[in-house]
Amino acid sequence: MLTSYEIKSNIQSSKPSFDFMDVPLWQEFLEGMTSSFDCGCLAVYDREGSILTPPTKTNIACKAAMGTVEGVNLCKEYCLKAISKALNRGEPYIFECHTHQYSYAVPIILDKDVQLVILGGHVYLSTENIKMFHDKAGEYEMRESTISPFTKGLNSLSPEEFNTIPNNVMALALPFFKGIYNKGMFEKRFYQMKSVFNVTSGFLQPVSQKDAYELALKTLGILFDVESASIAVRDRETSFITCAAFGRRWDELHSFVIDSSIDIVNRVTATGKPEGSTDRDVLRKLAAPEGVHSIHLFPLKREGETFSLLVIFNTTLGEDDIKLISTLCSQLSVFMENISLKEDKARRLILQSALYAASGAFTSLLEPEALYDMVLNKSIELVGAEQGSLMILDEKDMALAIKATKGINKAIVEDLKVRIGEGISGGVAERGTPLIVNDIEESPVPRKNRSRFKTKSFVSIPLNVNSRIIGVLNISDKITGEVFSAEDRDLLLSFASYASIALDRGAYYKMSEELRSISITDHLTGLLNRRYLQDRLFEETERAKRHKVPLTLFMIDIDDFKSFNDRYGHPAGDQILKTVAHAIQEEVRNIDVVARYGGEEFTVILPTTSKAASMIIAERIRKGIEDTPYWGPKIPAGAKVTISLGIATCPEDADSMETLIEQADRALFMAKTGGKNRVVSCV
Ligand code: GH3
Ligand code: MG
Ligand code: MG
Repeated sequence: MLTSYEIKSNIQSSKPSFDFMDVPLWQEFLEGMTSSFDCGCLAVYDREGSILTPPTKTNIACKAAMGTVEGVNLCKEYCLKAISKALNRGEPYIFECHTHQYSYAVPIILDKDVQLVILGGHVYLSTENIKMFHDKAGEYEMRESTISPFTKGLNSLSPEEFNTIPNNVMALALPFFKGIYNKGMFEKRFYQMKSVFNVTSGFLQPVSQKDAYELALKTLGILFDVESASIAVRDRETSFITCAAFGRRWDELHSFVIDSSIDIVNRVTATGKPEGSTDRDVLRKLAAPEGVHSIHLFPLKREGETFSLLVIFNTTLGEDDIKLISTLCSQLSVFMENISLKEDKARRLILQSALYAASGAFTSLLEPEALYDMVLNKSIELVGAEQGSLMILDEKDMALAIKATKGINKAIVEDLKVRIGEGISGGVAERGTPLIVNDIEESPVPRKNRSRFKTKSFVSIPLNVNSRIIGVLNISDKITGEVFSAEDRDLLLSFASYASIALDRGAYYKMSEELRSISITDHLTGLLNRRYLQDRLFEETERAKRHKVPLTLFMIDIDDFKSFNDRYGHPAGDQILKTVAHAIQEEVRNIDVVARYGGEEFTVILPTTSKAASMIIAERIRKGIEDTPYWGPKIPAGAKVTISLGIATCPEDADSMETLIEQADRALFMAKTGGKNRVVSCV
């Protein structure tokens, strides 16, 4: 597509008629936009197709097409058509051009006579499209040999990602140009945009959902003169609960709950479009706090579902404000998703470590009493609580008996039995569903808070095996003094699902196997983990010594991985780790054991393999990794990854697991100091 100045002379050249096209400012603006999301190559045209600002990048496929008269004419034709389509529609227009790249035209209509178009994109969305361009080489008087080196290095973006770009560009660029057009507004607008970019680019990396929400609210408050604003997150199907607030009504807003069945809320969540109201009836139905006379709802969406609402109170918002705030919301949604994935991962790690710790105990055939204590203690630790009790169902009299307690004197409760259906625990056992109580005095089974509990909140979890109730776990008093959250409940439920099986004698052994598989693999790469490696290497060295057969160990470390991360980001690094793990696995035999030893370090155990034989395998791994193509959303094609590999063999280099690791490490060190991307064996 149109990617260079050359087009200017080819498309008719009426003088740009806009004195407000401030190129340095536009460039600064573009920089901000690019840091917020990847908008690709952009250029600005007037409605006749004259270039006002050149494209931000030159694209090799475009360049190739522009190298011929035929190509230039085709570019011109597609470009003019897209410009007029976009302006006629007043909406972004996405098209596939003659080079089979996808581009978009975003209309910027300032008034009847002043109309611009931003052309952007120029990306291949599939390898088929690259191939189609490739096959056309002859048509543009291009030799295949001219095109093929170009098309090799092109990245592809997913169509879903691509489709969101034009609307974001429009939402941000339109107010920018309007701001310049109506000069008075300009300063404020420009400042607003820059701050929106700062928030959404992750430049200010907030650490938790709450921080991110608070930051977004502060930005809004300051930039849009918002009186009050809040963010409410979905709580099941029926309501949105306020989790962060800003402004004058800060205090009252914290208890504001939005009923999702109210019309305006329903429309916003269903259509995904923001909506405002000053209607008294609507405000009354929403149970808006006293003194609220206007409300605006903006959805935050994930996979088409509204998971939170941004609510702005008592503030007049223009059309441009609404567009900007919507963009902020859509960027914020992406950001939230990343954070929630991270938080989810952290929670899983806690759970996994609890399961791992528990698995040893589950499998070592504890006495039942010790098992009860262990399950209770782990549960209490898992959610950071202080007190709790574990009750097990005695099927003879269908009553729950306390088997373990913490923070409660066991002697007092020793003989206490609770019938199914009776009291809180009996109720949980009967229904088979967990219960969180924020305030025991207001629970479905209200009772005076007993003085031994510090807080009034507790959580009660049923223990089931195949939907047969076997007991109830009660946990109370978080160390922090907070009430128990839905996450606490879910964490306990996951743990309880394993613990129940262990507690239920019949399913004991199957359980231990499942747990073992959970705790021996590395999450990221799917390889065996370091703990497993050590157990296994110990067995293998002992076996090798006993049977007098050789055993070889490889220590592998990715070269200059820190700078790879620095350059392309941690997620790109993670992807490399997966690819490298896979590549190593590909080169070894079934009996060899590949493990992730640490961050970017891997080990391979090669049973019954001599040093000479292992050298060949090592070199194959090194070469395989050097030759693997690495690419991905954040990794440019052609990126290089290499490894260094140290070899040590038992018995000649070492006679124990520890010394074998030491020697392989030493050989690896020599490979690094010798220049990297090489295999070195212990001498
Ligand atoms: P050398 O060639 O000497 O090995 O250089 P290096 O940069 O690879 O060395 P170093 O061991 O100092 O750095 C290892 C880096 O690996 C540090 C860290 O940024 C990165 N890393 C470790 N674990 C992970 C991970 O799980 N994911 C990602 N993306 N990077 C990791
Ligand atoms: Mg390292
Ligand atoms: Mg390294």
